[in-house]
Amino acid sequence: MCGIIAYAGGQEAGPILVDGLKALEYRGYDSAGVGVRDGTGRMAVTRVAGRVEQLAAALRAKAKSGAASRGTVGIAHTRWATHGGVTEANAHPHVSRDGRVAIVHNGIVENYLALRAELADVGYEFTSETDSEVIAHLIHRGLAAGHSFAAAVRQAAALVQGASAVVAACADEPETLIGLRLGNAGGIVVGLGDGFNLLASDTLALLPHTSRVAY
Ligand code: GLU
Repeated sequence: MCGIIAYAGGQEAGPILVDGLKALEYRGYDSAGVGVRDGTGRMAVTRVAGRVEQLAAALRAKAKSGAASRGTVGIAHTRWATHGGVTEANAHPHVSRDGRVAIVHNGIVENYLALRAELADVGYEFTSETDSEVIAHLIHRGLAAGHSFAAAVRQAAALVQGASAVVAACADEPETLIGLRLGNAGGIVVGLGDGFNLLASDTLALLPHTSRVAY
């Protein structure tokens, strides 16, 4: 179970998220990624099967070519693979096909094979080997059925078995991040700032920004 950091506020999210991931490196991990809402309302994802420094370099390269999202809402993750190899495609965030929903996940979805089969039956395509990806598609299915983001996340959480901590972002509600914890997958802590909020798996990642936290 590895690191999560998420930011919603008025500043460019990418650099804040990368710094947050650096603070979580001590936990150990094998890959890293960030997803930031872009100008078209999609979650633009950058991932590496490697170190946070490689992720930072990938983001710098994107920024140079003008391809980086300068959005102010985003989620980020350091992964310790449990299901699926250490590859860029398996690194988090995982995103729904239309780019509307992005999630990062710590823990294990124990019933992911059954959920994967159920989603594949109604046309969902999978781009990773992880157990985590089902969460993005379950939330998307709830939205497609007309539910709000919060209701879609609750519905997804009710279907997922095992211990998990998740942070989700949705292009339809650009200022909202939702965190949830199921079972003992480590905590999720909320950091409260002036004009911004953060979510993280570890208080350490929040402390450079705020000392007002809620567990
Ligand atoms: N089970 C997920 C995966 O293999 C999350 C692992 C983690 O907690 O970092 O991608």
